[in-house]
Amino acid sequence: MASPTPRVFPLIDERTLGQPMALTPGAGTGALAAGMLDTLQRPLRDLRISVTDRCNFRCSYCMPKEVFHKDYAYLPHSALLSFEEIIQLTRQFVALGVQKIRLTGGEPLLRKNIELLIEKLAALTTPDGKALDLTLTTNGSLLTKKARSLKDAGLQRLTVSLDGLDDAVFKAMNDVDFPVADVLNGIEAAQAVGLGPVKVNMVVKRGTNEQEIVPMARHFKGSGVILRYIEFMDVGATNGWRMDDVLPSGEVLERLRAEMPLVALRKGHPGDTAQRYGHADSQGQHDPSAGELGFISSVTQAFCGDCNRARLSTEGQLYLCLFAGQGHDLRSLLRSGASEEQLRDAIATVWGARTDRYSATRGMQPPDAGSTQRRVEMSYIGG
Ligand code: SAM
Ligand code: SF4
Ligand code: SF4
Repeated sequence: MASPTPRVFPLIDERTLGQPMALTPGAGTGALAAGMLDTLQRPLRDLRISVTDRCNFRCSYCMPKEVFHKDYAYLPHSALLSFEEIIQLTRQFVALGVQKIRLTGGEPLLRKNIELLIEKLAALTTPDGKALDLTLTTNGSLLTKKARSLKDAGLQRLTVSLDGLDDAVFKAMNDVDFPVADVLNGIEAAQAVGLGPVKVNMVVKRGTNEQEIVPMARHFKGSGVILRYIEFMDVGATNGWRMDDVLPSGEVLERLRAEMPLVALRKGHPGDTAQRYGHADSQGQHDPSAGELGFISSVTQAFCGDCNRARLSTEGQLYLCLFAGQGHDLRSLLRSGASEEQLRDAIATVWGARTDRYSATRGMQPPDAGSTQRRVEMSYIGG
């Protein structure tokens, strides 16, 4: 039998691989407005804001212990965007068409006083006066404690990551011995205060947690939680990604269908990344009381065609793709005293020149491109 491929972790700081691209203040006419499109005719609608590069988990597919060890140099506090800076920038993104904000990280609930940021974000409105769709992705470890204060601050809903119901499997994946029960309690706490619908993200790794696929679907059926199976992605450069570890969503669906009836549902909204399926009744119709589940298949079924997301890193770099190696330095522009119009123009110019479609072209990369390409870590720009 062939011996398994050893995992190789590069000993470099992956956060700032490419020097961030400087942005120079333009004339600041602010003329570029909502509705602008990138080179592939995609609008800007969704902004993911990473509020910390730290995490209390060491998920092997995201922040493996071998790299993110106790001496790892996280960003100093002065490098982080302050809440005021995040709001200043978010206002410009919203003026340019952003309607949905997701706070992420690292673990966003580790950022001190995150509720204050949520309060300020919840007060923003779109140019036509609508509230923003405000959500957050969390590992759930602090949710029992924080669900109420998050709701009171104005958070509408959230996504919790949970990779299985078996303690041994989950603990091996979070690598800090964190028990399943505490995450489940956090999910219940979120539902109890009305942070819904709660979504649960399960990253599926072949040979690691595939036996959890069916139990997870059974557990959340009829609970009001929307479970989503996520293909293990080749994001970053430290998680030892191999195509062999990816269990394609098509296979996950087959395994589920062997155990329970499911019917395909229509796509949510443009830019929605999930393929949705409803639990079916005995007539083969979707039973809304049993709920739905979904698949995010960024490896096997790229959705770059309607990718409308931008990402703001913990230190204020603008990234246009999860797989980018380089960001655009909004923090320097902001701290140099640029006006609102100049910030807006800079963002609009960067978006207008956007060509990214990494997942759609992944199959066209040379076979070893995954190991040599320089890419930013997910814990730094957020998922
Ligand atoms: N710490 C929070 C959490 O885990 O929910 C937020 C940040 S985490 C980077 C955001 C999402 O990215 C999580 O649902 C996580 O499971 C997912 N993720 C991280 N690395 C991934 C990878 N290599 N492939 C697929 N999903 C990944
Ligand atoms: Fe932390 Fe989330 Fe990454 Fe896991 S996936 S290490 S919880 S940031
Ligand atoms: Fe968007 Fe990049 Fe993902 Fe394609 S690969 S869907 S462009 S983030």
